[in-house]
Amino acid sequence: MKSKSSDFIPLGAPTFGTDDINEVIDSLQSGWVGTGPKVGQFERDFGKYVGTQSALATNSCTAALHLSLMSLELKPGDEVITTPMTFCATINTIIHAGGKPILADCNKDDFCINPENISEKITKNTRAILPVHFAGQSCNMEDIMQLANDHSLNVIEDCAHAIETTFDDNHAGTFGDFGCFSFYATKNLVTGEGGMLIAKDREKLNQIKKIALHGMSLDAWDRFSEGGFKHYDIVAPGFKYNMTDIQAALGIHQLARIEENWLKRQRIWRLYSESFSELPIDLPTNVVVPKSKHAHHLYTILIRDDAPVNRDEFILKMQENNIGTGVHYRSIPGFSFYQDSFGWNPDDYPNSTSIGNRTVSIPLSPGLSENDLNRIIEKVNSILK
Ligand SMILES: *Cc1c(COP(=O)(O)O)cnc(C)c1O
Repeated sequence: MKSKSSDFIPLGAPTFGTDDINEVIDSLQSGWVGTGPKVGQFERDFGKYVGTQSALATNSCTAALHLSLMSLELKPGDEVITTPMTFCATINTIIHAGGKPILADCNKDDFCINPENISEKITKNTRAILPVHFAGQSCNMEDIMQLANDHSLNVIEDCAHAIETTFDDNHAGTFGDFGCFSFYATKNLVTGEGGMLIAKDREKLNQIKKIALHGMSLDAWDRFSEGGFKHYDIVAPGFKYNMTDIQAALGIHQLARIEENWLKRQRIWRLYSESFSELPIDLPTNVVVPKSKHAHHLYTILIRDDAPVNRDEFILKMQENNIGTGVHYRSIPGFSFYQDSFGWNPDDYPNSTSIGNRTVSIPLSPGLSENDLNRIIEKVNSILK
């Protein structure tokens, strides 16, 4: 994220305030830098924000996805249906949990997984559906939950882009059995690295909490803080997926500013959409679904064939002008490992493949100045006109 030169505008830049910094200092001065009271507070605050009492802070969204998939106790041949338009971690964690990823193509307009395509992929081996709320737009959770109920499938929501997202007045992540959030450096809430796992079933989350810390029956805070010393038991071969108080210190204050920052994101989103309406590109959809909220995580444009440059040329030209961009994402069936392992053919996922070849994300973060925005708008216009 570090600036390449003083006037480089990164794709996404976190903004840390004095409150965030002082809370980190408080952690350091207290001497408790591991998982402790600040993690507990961040879990409660985040749970309150999304409307659940069951939240577990992790050191990444990848960890949260892995833990939730592990808890399904998948057997060889069990299938998990997800989208080809996502970050590789969505697919990799299915594989790590012993499942077979099955792809159902996404929509052309909002890049979210298409429920009819999911329905066609359901077999007797299907165990779960893993939708990704793309760029902050909620998937159609009504149809997806209907399918899950009809076929007795678990649902794990990848909410890495969807901290502020709601659908029909409910928060993304609260529809399925699990919701997995990311606080990576480019996301809408940043703790350096970090994630959150929310669960419908509190008892299940309590079991997962042990798996997230080596399979130990008690964490260090429980063992050493009050009432003397207790031994721990090992109840399973767990992982090392816990969040630290240093990360949670940032999270607590980032969360307090999330809505304020969201308003800034919304304003930038609208400004871009007004400023680029005449260009040979498809703008991201801002379908106004009643009682739903778009997190405005990414502003993804699609470069059309009649544009003067292709996607990769556009990226280079932006780079020459000191403006960062991102590709979210190249379609999953285009990567060699997945082709070799699963025989996936990009042509079988035409929407995802077409998006993956043409999409590019331009900077969207609350810290962008008017000067930055003017520069971005001017350059995008001059490159694409
Ligand atoms: C960022 C991201 C992840 C992984 O999040 P980490 O916190 O970096 O592990 C997973 N899925 C999607 C869609 C993402 O954008």
